[in-house]
Amino acid sequence: MARTDFGPPDFRELLPPVITKNYGNWKTHEIPRPGVLKHISYSGDVIHSVRVASPRLVSSDWMLDICDLADKFCEGYLRFTTRNNVEFLVSDEARLQPLLDELDAKDYLIGGVGLSISNVVHTQGWIHCKSAVTDASGITKSIMDNMTDYFTGKVKVPSRLRIAVACCVNMCGACHCSDIAIVGIHRTIPRINDEAVARVCELPSTIASCPTGAIRPNPKTKSIEIKREKCMMCGNCVVVCPAGLQIMDPLNDGVSIWVGGKVSNSGSAPKFSRLAIPFIPNEPPRWDKVTDAVTNLVEVWAANARSGERMGAWIERIGWERFFTLTNLPFTDKHIDDFTYAQTTFRATTQFKY
Ligand code: SF4
Ligand code: SF4
Repeated sequence: MARTDFGPPDFRELLPPVITKNYGNWKTHEIPRPGVLKHISYSGDVIHSVRVASPRLVSSDWMLDICDLADKFCEGYLRFTTRNNVEFLVSDEARLQPLLDELDAKDYLIGGVGLSISNVVHTQGWIHCKSAVTDASGITKSIMDNMTDYFTGKVKVPSRLRIAVACCVNMCGACHCSDIAIVGIHRTIPRINDEAVARVCELPSTIASCPTGAIRPNPKTKSIEIKREKCMMCGNCVVVCPAGLQIMDPLNDGVSIWVGGKVSNSGSAPKFSRLAIPFIPNEPPRWDKVTDAVTNLVEVWAANARSGERMGAWIERIGWERFFTLTNLPFTDKHIDDFTYAQTTFRATTQFKY
């Protein structure tokens, strides 16, 4: 491939030699201990990957440290997984135990492989994004602190469990397909500064930014108006016209919690997550109510699911009525989908199992 001066390099240039040699020729893998995968090729070659949690917002010291460890034990090779775990790729089996010992000595969390909770994936939060309702990284850190034993395999779980945090309903972190998804929500429509909209913002692109067609021009003020009943408070227009529109609302912003989604095809088709808890207010810096709610969901699922049953499959087996009873969560009017196309998802039966 021709070299260019933009974008990432061709991934083939970055593979450890043993992977290049056995490309497309891997036979199987084993999990010799929590956090370690042993990959075996048809040629008999072996490579181990050692998975550790990342603290998500990382310092340059931390980056330098994992690079040093990769240089010392892995000929410089490591990778980040889609859930931002770090995987050290160990081609020389003799270096596996020394790497594990050094990671232990440095208090890295080794785990997240197989039947366990993997690193919590999250979006950018207050630190980076204009439409963030909440601090995704802060919530993630607090949840991960509670889930440490589930990550390392000290506490056993029936199946994989994926937790994700998105700081607004745009969910750029693929939160909508996670076993437990924490999604930031605004509950008030954007406030319009007519003078700033007229002076600074481009009206056609602001109007076009609305996915529900809630914005229309207001010729009297040379600005826009928002139809309250059509607005889903997504904040898209605020990103396009930040000078003239404000959606942040400390009293009404917070998070919702969704359950039962997955991306994987194994066992059953991929599923969207569904609403379990409509609203919890923002409570930095530790978000105790959010972390308690997530811990409750994990504990109830772990105590009741069958082996191999992910959150969504477990709920489907026992029914949503029983899910709400077991988790002690109230079922409210907010759980009823009243979007225009909701008819297709309505349950059309009189059979309930409370
Ligand atoms: Fe921004 Fe929303 Fe993505 Fe968070 S989820 S980073 S607020 S677009
Ligand atoms: Fe449209 Fe979203 Fe802006 Fe509401 S917040 S007006 S739905 S773009």
